[in-house]
Amino acid sequence: MTTRVGITGAAGRMGRTLIEAIAMAGDGLKLAAAIERPESSLLGADAGELAGLGSNGIALVGSLEEVIGDIDVLIDFTVPAATLANAALCAREGIALVIGTTGFTADEQARLEAAAAVTPVCKASNFSTGVNLCFKLLDMAARVLGDEVDIEVYEAHHRHKIDAPSGTALSMGEVVASALGRDLSRVAVYGREGQTGPRDRETIGFATVRAGDIVGDHTVTFAAEGERVEITHKASSRMSFARGAVRAAGWLAGRDAGLYDMQDVLGL
Ligand code: NAP
Repeated sequence: MTTRVGITGAAGRMGRTLIEAIAMAGDGLKLAAAIERPESSLLGADAGELAGLGSNGIALVGSLEEVIGDIDVLIDFTVPAATLANAALCAREGIALVIGTTGFTADEQARLEAAAAVTPVCKASNFSTGVNLCFKLLDMAARVLGDEVDIEVYEAHHRHKIDAPSGTALSMGEVVASALGRDLSRVAVYGREGQTGPRDRETIGFATVRAGDIVGDHTVTFAAEGERVEITHKASSRMSFARGAVRAAGWLAGRDAGLYDMQDVLGL
């Protein structure tokens, strides 16, 4: 059976890459709808041409509701407000949802969890296989190195990114904090300036860089007296995220309602 996929934010950076990733995915998946804002000047444009692939016969539409009956799974990489509205519609219609958008507040996260109680949702701050492997390595490093090290998370992204620190950096912090039995909301330090005093070992620091066209760099440093371990991931193309999200869409179709993540998809 072929899984019919819709993409919201189809003309965005990730949207166009997702169109290409679906075209490369083989027979099990096909692009069935491409959705943009109702006021987009690109409505009616051919989604395949938008992604630089040549025509695929799918025209960009301005409303998810218009095409919801044509899809089995929606992939959404947009902004929190749009994702929340799309999640409510998917929950109402029983459509599976892959969420790549980042930057949700705790209240917004709770609304996504409510949607996942009635329809399958796969949400990940980072859909690349390499980053999900890094989550495992970070868990292992934190457990082995324990309270003997200072832990710092560094991330760098392109100048257009609107949230900070990145969702991936926060997920890395969560993995490390949870391995050490710490509450990230209590121990996280977001940037330092002025007379900060000496470092408290319990804290987990975050440093953010925004510059040029960096697709996504993350490094977690575990620094002890006399040595340090660094776990680094560098994305050089958005295709790493898009391929993972498309794999998640195929995996999610037909599953029971629930909130899943990329670790579930990869069987980690
Ligand atoms: P982008 O290029 O700005 O694309 C966002 C798309 O969403 C655009 O097409 C935009 O349309 C559309 N959009 C914005 N507001 C909307 C609204 N209210 N209703 C409907 N559509 C709306 O951004 P991007 O780089 O693709 O990133 C999108 C999201 O994915 C971000 O949250 C980013 O952090 C996240 N991301 C996640 C991963 C992962 O692996 N999880 C990887 C990369 C990026 P306009 O251009 O008309 O505003």
